[in-house]
Amino acid sequence: MEFPKKVRIYCPYCKKHTVHTVYISKRRPRRTLAQGQRRFLRKMKGYGSFPKENPKGREKPTRKVDLRFKCTVCGKSHTHGEGFRVKKFKLVEV
Ligand SMILES: [Zn+2]
Repeated sequence: MEFPKKVRIYCPYCKKHTVHTVYISKRRPRRTLAQGQRRFLRKMKGYGSFPKENPKGREKPTRKVDLRFKCTVCGKSHTHGEGFRVKKFKLVEV
């Protein structure tokens, strides 16, 4: 799928439609020392039959794209919906 690099959508900070630049958000590394992450890791060490392994079978052929929109007026970025599944994703100049 091809997607334009610049779109004109609503900016919740400017409260009007402005031009936004589109980019795909990068994965951030896990904060291994954060309290929530430490608690989660301790839980995932397991007890009884927990944690159960993931169901095996086919892998999903697609990935969700995590699009971010950065307002060119105020410089703040925000999301627009939850993202969607595509096999290939490309940002193109229009
Ligand atoms: Zn804005």
